[in-house]
Amino acid sequence: MKKEPFVTKEQLDEIVKTYPTPFHLYDEKGIRANAKAVKEAFAWNPGFKEYFAVKATPNPFLINILKEYGCGLDCSSMTELMLADTLHFGGPDIMFSSNATPASEFQFAHDIGAIINLDDFTHIDFLEKTIGQIPETISCRYNPGGVFKISNSIMDNPGDAKYGFTTEQLFEGFKVLKEKGAKHFGIHAFLASNTVTNEYYPTLARTLFEVAVKLKEETGADIRFINLSGGIGIPYRPDQEPNDIYAIGEGVRKVYEEVLVPAGMGDVAIYTELGRFMMGPYGCLVTTAIHEKHTYKEYIGCDACAVNLMRPAMYGAYHHITVMGKDNSVCSHKYDITGSLCENNDKFAIDRMLPKIAIGDLLVIHDTGAHGFSMGYNYNGKLKSAEILLKEDGTAQLIRRAETPKDYFATFDCFDILKDMKWE
Ligand SMILES: *Cc1c(COP(=O)(O)O)cnc(C)c1O
Repeated sequence: MKKEPFVTKEQLDEIVKTYPTPFHLYDEKGIRANAKAVKEAFAWNPGFKEYFAVKATPNPFLINILKEYGCGLDCSSMTELMLADTLHFGGPDIMFSSNATPASEFQFAHDIGAIINLDDFTHIDFLEKTIGQIPETISCRYNPGGVFKISNSIMDNPGDAKYGFTTEQLFEGFKVLKEKGAKHFGIHAFLASNTVTNEYYPTLARTLFEVAVKLKEETGADIRFINLSGGIGIPYRPDQEPNDIYAIGEGVRKVYEEVLVPAGMGDVAIYTELGRFMMGPYGCLVTTAIHEKHTYKEYIGCDACAVNLMRPAMYGAYHHITVMGKDNSVCSHKYDITGSLCENNDKFAIDRMLPKIAIGDLLVIHDTGAHGFSMGYNYNGKLKSAEILLKEDGTAQLIRRAETPKDYFATFDCFDILKDMKWE
């Protein structure tokens, strides 16, 4: 399928008059349509709730859009919890799915009433010592080990992952938690990332539903929710078939009726913690081609770099690129599209066939709406970019300003060595 930007060249030409590149641009219309679809796909389950994974796109404006569709937030750190609290998400609308968790974060999560999702058996004691009790509602993260397969193809390798309780620990954990006063339980698992198949959630759901039935039988635990977590992916490549969220919701419903309903567990709520699927396609990184270089290869140097989007450098991830205004030109040139970091992996694309690029062309790097801006860092003293929302009416709204040198040096503000600094 041809990948088209959600913004036109005319719109972008207008936006860059006010906001210099690089910046991340988000598509309000797309975010809303998708959030509505997720809600509808699971409407068969009265308790359904999507807890948006904050780490994917921690922007208050975007989170508030999702809130309109009934989303809660999945947090994994202190500042993410603080953001959720600041945006007035109430306790049960916050899931705290963390690992290697500091005591202060358990305490804070408990203070604001978040649902705590324990990553490990030893965290039961740690939590009890930290907050002085076991909360009435508690969740445990399950890791069945081995490899995670769908129709004989290996999707991921949970046995190598640092997360979750083993099966044995899960059963023991539920018993211990119950003895210590827990009344309502949840089960969570995240077994494969960025899956582009409608089978992932239903397959995961079967694993979790079956273990839930056994847990209820063996421990008598009152299981209130099953959290399918994240992992529904997006088609980064043009040849990938997008997931169909309605087919996924329907697939989970079938397994629910097959496994949970006959076990008398037809009132269990389904939770999700999608990040990428909620935002990924509805953001892009806009950058300008500022140099071309002809050496052993052909390079285009842009004004964005890996600090704005780390995925290609970190995982060799593919991000589609559109040269604005040249959409119908032949991809006649093979380029490496690079940023300016002193790191040779700072390349948004390697050997990519694209139309001939001229200095000043605007490049749209697709699918940066999740795990894009948020993975940014400040290497080489690079400053983080602005975030802009393309609203439904076609206008642009600044939703995070770009960092300034003052922000970069802010952590020296308790010393007087910067008193001669002349720049903001
Ligand atoms: C990262 C993460 C998610 C979101 O993952 P996506 O791949 O963006 O859907 C959900 N839950 C937990 C616990 C995570 O760590």
